[in-house]
Amino acid sequence: MPTYEYRCNCTRRREIVCSADDPTKALYDAGRMTCETCAETYTRVFSFRAASVMHSHFNDSVGEEVSSMAGFKDALKRKSDAVTARTGIPHDFQPIDWHDPAVAPKSDAGMKETHDRAVATGRVEPSKKIL
Ligand SMILES: [Zn+2]
Repeated sequence: MPTYEYRCNCTRRREIVCSADDPTKALYDAGRMTCETCAETYTRVFSFRAASVMHSHFNDSVGEEVSSMAGFKDALKRKSDAVTARTGIPHDFQPIDWHDPAVAPKSDAGMKETHDRAVATGRVEPSKKIL
């Protein structure tokens, strides 16, 4: 079910979750629903969320080529199962949200060494850009 967002002059926001042909949504869209605070009518707010695109690449974490978040999660699950079977210790690898400041790297320490090692083993083309 989609979510529709409306706002009035006092910036009070109202979200309604309904089908596109819901009568309540029609009232909001027609400007017939008024704010309890400022008595102005609600107007529709259009917003969207952009999904990030994962390009096909060799992922060191899972040791294979991945091209989507779903494929990456599947690969992490396979890796978790393999490590759990090998060690007898339950593993559940999860993707990291790099936008989370708690897990984002604080420096680029080790980046150049990792890049140089990847070039030396032929996994990565040497680039002019110095990391
Ligand atoms: Zn208002």
